[in-house]
Amino acid sequence: MPYSIPSDEEIRDALEIVIKRMKAIGSLKRLRELVIRELRIKDPGYTIGYPRLREIAVTSPFIHTSIEARQASAFKALKGKCPVCGMKLKPIKNDTIFGGTVTLGYTCTTCPYWTTLKRRVPTRYRFEYVKEHY
Ligand SMILES: [Zn+2]
Repeated sequence: MPYSIPSDEEIRDALEIVIKRMKAIGSLKRLRELVIRELRIKDPGYTIGYPRLREIAVTSPFIHTSIEARQASAFKALKGKCPVCGMKLKPIKNDTIFGGTVTLGYTCTTCPYWTTLKRRVPTRYRFEYVKEHY
């Protein structure tokens, strides 16, 4: 069967149906299975990769995402991009007693990911339906 690629809009619609029905989903793998099942009602060839689904899920207003992470064993520079959604990271700064500032870590401007300078590597996601969203 040839694969076809759903639009962002179609993915978001499928996500909303799935998360509304399930209320909470404890892994990205499970979320992907359910979203693909929903998408294939429209087109049996539809598929979606993990990174794209993750990016759309974490930035959807009707989903609250919790991210579990482990500490990376070695420091690895983040290059200013969020490993979850690909958007810009903003430094978390603290004032020092010497009148300067020190960077403690980074926080994403779009999704709930944050990290200390020792990079946090996301290991598990939990998605919850947000009833009151804008
Ligand atoms: Zn992010």
